[in-house]
Amino acid sequence: MCEERSILSDNVPMGPSQTLALLYRRRVVVRRYGQSLRVRNWNGRSLSKQTLELVRANKPEILRLLVFVAAYRGHLQRMFRRSVRGCDQSEVQTFLDRQALLVDNLGPELARQVFLDAGRAYRVRTAICPWCTEDGGTCLEPKE
Ligand SMILES: [Zn+2]
Repeated sequence: MCEERSILSDNVPMGPSQTLALLYRRRVVVRRYGQSLRVRNWNGRSLSKQTLELVRANKPEILRLLVFVAAYRGHLQRMFRRSVRGCDQSEVQTFLDRQALLVDNLGPELARQVFLDAGRAYRVRTAICPWCTEDGGTCLEPKE
């Protein structure tokens, strides 16, 4: 059976937020079941021993982060659906405050990766691209 190549490019220590961002970037599926964590490769390949060790070492923090990931995905869905248009100023402010809080809890790399993944999933589900301009002329999808 093929193993993924190691996600550790060098010996730079990675925190839980960066670890989870990297797992998502590699399309590793990470799910929480109560207090346990299930990780698997999108393509069925085995995860490397190093990756599994990294996940194990960061398990409590990853479990905690997954709560914020779920909240941020929900927040982004609302944003993509409503585009926050037609809201009054205080609704927009509440929305932005919540977004700032979620991004703070996730960390910048992880928040960015969740944003990209949620936008792409929304586009697949609805055939509406959250980054295309209204006239359809330009797609502003952020680069990886
Ligand atoms: Zn687009």
